[in-house]
Amino acid sequence: MVAELDHDYALFDGSSLNVPAPGQPRDALIGEWDDDHGGPYSTNGLLATLIAGSSVADGDSDLMLLVLPVDFHGYYPGYAEDGSHARDRLAVVVLKGHTKNRGGVVSLRSADPAEPPDIRFHYFSEGSPGWQEDLRGMVDGIEIARDVIAHAADAGVTRELVPGPEVRTTGRLEDWIRTQSWGHHACGTAKIGSDDDPAAVLDGDFRVRGVRGLRVVDASVFPDIPGLFIASAVYLISEKAAETLLAAYPAPETATARR
Ligand SMILES: Cc1cc2nc3c(=O)[nH]c(=O)nc-3n(C[C@H](O)[C@H](O)[C@H](O)COP(=O)(O)OP(=O)(O)OC[C@H]3O[C@@H](n4cnc5c(N)ncnc54)[C@H](O)[C@@H]3O)c2cc1C
Repeated sequence: MVAELDHDYALFDGSSLNVPAPGQPRDALIGEWDDDHGGPYSTNGLLATLIAGSSVADGDSDLMLLVLPVDFHGYYPGYAEDGSHARDRLAVVVLKGHTKNRGGVVSLRSADPAEPPDIRFHYFSEGSPGWQEDLRGMVDGIEIARDVIAHAADAGVTRELVPGPEVRTTGRLEDWIRTQSWGHHACGTAKIGSDDDPAAVLDGDFRVRGVRGLRVVDASVFPDIPGLFIASAVYLISEKAAETLLAAYPAPETATARR
């Protein structure tokens, strides 16, 4: 969601929010970083973060709202530059975690490993049972974001730009979410599982079942979708795989030391 303020952020005064070309005058924010590694560039750029539970949460919080002082409404080539033109915007990113939909397909296009595979996320109605709950949770998230914006008048927030006041009913919100939301925490396409699980691509040591000498270690190995953010779980599984491989193939000096 994006809202408009009645003033530009003083925070950005004197900054192009970009890397200055050679010979250009000193940029205020980059200068602060150069001086003592301080200023806004020493932060992750978020004004606030809110963790919440939607009406479909199964116990764990399943919503994370990130509040940004930029015009962010999605990723596309050039989004970062576009997002920094206006200095009077407040974006609230709504992340729905613990999603129920298990749809999605990754298919090889050819035997050439350099050719990107065909990736179909199968969001919402294209997906598996549970997508309605994901959609309900997203509607809840947008309503919480609207509440945040409604309480930000003291900070100068004047009006909602995206999705906009005309997208008001639950039905219109659902349509908007279906066409505008996206995901980039894809995972679970080569899951670890037990011997009797026909969908388990990998065994507990990351070995591809039925293929000798091949292991997979990446976000595809998770049998369940990690909660809100996924990168830290990828790091953890990587550490686990390193241990597994080192146990199977000790480094030569370790093997010598042990002898
Ligand atoms: C825009 C965006 C924003 C995100 N933001 C967050 C976030 O804020 N927090 C979070 O937790 N997660 C975030 N994620 C998700 C997170 O980045 C991924 O889940 C994670 O990086 C997946 O790790 P991976 O090791 O499975 O794959 P990757 O990190 O994609 O690593 C795969 C590697 O394989 C390489 N590769 C591909 N093909 C070949 C080939 N043929 N030969 C050799 N190398 C090859 C690629 O270059 C790449 O380095 C984001 C993802 C995107 C796309």
